[in-house]
Amino acid sequence: MESFVVNAERPSWMEEAACKGRTNLFFGIAGERPERRIRREASARKVCASCPVMVPCRDLARDNRENGFWGGESEEERAMTGHAPRSISRRAVQEAAARAS
Ligand code: SF4
Repeated sequence: MESFVVNAERPSWMEEAACKGRTNLFFGIAGERPERRIRREASARKVCASCPVMVPCRDLARDNRENGFWGGESEEERAMTGHAPRSISRRAVQEAAARAS
């Protein structure tokens, strides 16, 4: 397997990321409304669609069970592949609360 790692903290492919400087598009703010999230993730998905490093990005996010939008995938889409985010997201808390009520 090809290694993308330049150092232990940052893979070299990140230098080619189409999302550089656009963090706010890929991670929601606390208390983000669902409508805003849908719009934000639709915009993020468009950026990912033209990104030259989508595959290693998606693989890293799956392997590390990242939160946020990575490699063209939302947290739910990543979870559907068996790679749910490690930490409990606000959404998961909201869904659990809704189920409990
Ligand atoms: S695939 Fe998307 S999240 Fe990953 S580096 Fe590219 S633009 Fe950023």
